[in-house]
Amino acid sequence: MRERFLRYVQINTRSDESSTSCPSTPGQLTLLRTLMTELNELGLTDVSMDEYGYVMATIPATTEKRVPVIGFIAHVDTSPEMPGQDVQPIVHENYQGDDLVLPDDPSVVLRASEDPALAAHIGHDIVTASGLTLLGADDKAGVAEIMAAAEYLMLHPEIPHGTIRIGFTPDEEIGRGANHFDVGRFGAVCAYTLDGGGAGELEWESFAADAMTITFKGFNTHPGYAKGHMVNAVKLAAAFIARLPPDRLSPETTEGYEGYVHPYLLDASVDRTSVKLLIRDFSTAGLEEKEAMAERLAREVIADHKGASVEIRIAESYRNMREILEGYPEVIECAREAIRRSGLTPAERPIRGGTDGSRLSFMGLPTPNLFAGEHNFHSRLEWVAVQDMEKAVETIVHLCQVWEQRS
Ligand SMILES: [Zn+2]
Repeated sequence: MRERFLRYVQINTRSDESSTSCPSTPGQLTLLRTLMTELNELGLTDVSMDEYGYVMATIPATTEKRVPVIGFIAHVDTSPEMPGQDVQPIVHENYQGDDLVLPDDPSVVLRASEDPALAAHIGHDIVTASGLTLLGADDKAGVAEIMAAAEYLMLHPEIPHGTIRIGFTPDEEIGRGANHFDVGRFGAVCAYTLDGGGAGELEWESFAADAMTITFKGFNTHPGYAKGHMVNAVKLAAAFIARLPPDRLSPETTEGYEGYVHPYLLDASVDRTSVKLLIRDFSTAGLEEKEAMAERLAREVIADHKGASVEIRIAESYRNMREILEGYPEVIECAREAIRRSGLTPAERPIRGGTDGSRLSFMGLPTPNLFAGEHNFHSRLEWVAVQDMEKAVETIVHLCQVWEQRS
């Protein structure tokens, strides 16, 4: 599995928001084709790639029992926020707690004193990049773990399990991973993404998320002769932003179950200025409250200016997968049991973000997220421990058996 992982991370699969194709970048297709070849070599059946690059395959059942079909999913792309070219993975064998200086940029240093998760991995084999790029353990750790589990199950037909489906998807990091996922073709009653953090983590609650655009419309005229006429939309937007609470409801002041209203992009001119905001909460009602607050503040601003107006647009991004997963307690319970059988304690916490599972759950495929061992996502300090990846493989294999035993 280590060999697979080190090979996959060297393929540049950085996704690109500005691209309209799917996958958004050709490197993703390279990895997806490689995976197809390897799935065929391992003897899986129904190995296929659709027109959007989604790869699916089947591990045939080894039991006579009627067992629900379950699936495992990982995404092949890496974050567009960071360089993903020429990734040089380094394995720091039997890590002893010393500083890990990444050779291609010695200012990039992993210190156990600053990273409690790393401090907890003394004696493990830690994989990092070389200082210039991300590693891409998010989510090639998940990809390698699913491949390793598939290989293990194909080599051990004496292990009883039902039909297992496997899916590899593009463009998760740009929010499109579920766009073309054919839930019908996948044909599973539930799935697990392998795209989480430290060993034992199990996530089945995510943010609920909307994208809000507030456009202030002013009135432009020649600034030399503007007295009494001009209404400057740039200033309207600035006044709106100044009214947002300074000490709460922002990413920089919240954690745990707290949501936020986050202005992140301005398109500004005197005539019209748009403010783009991310709205986040753990409930749809909480989202609506925050949107109502933002709208009220915007209307207060224009109320003071004759000739100004405001236009508000809200687009749904995704919803808290808990709304769906609460209805499928066995999906979560089987995962807990598999984690325990791997000698770990399930660690359940809400994701302050979304996963492909947030969307897939609402598309009819209940999909919580399992740990893949990833740390420091989207950073040059990204790392993963080989031993955690082995635990993830073990958890997948146990999970297949738990479903069989409970059927
Ligand atoms: Zn990911």
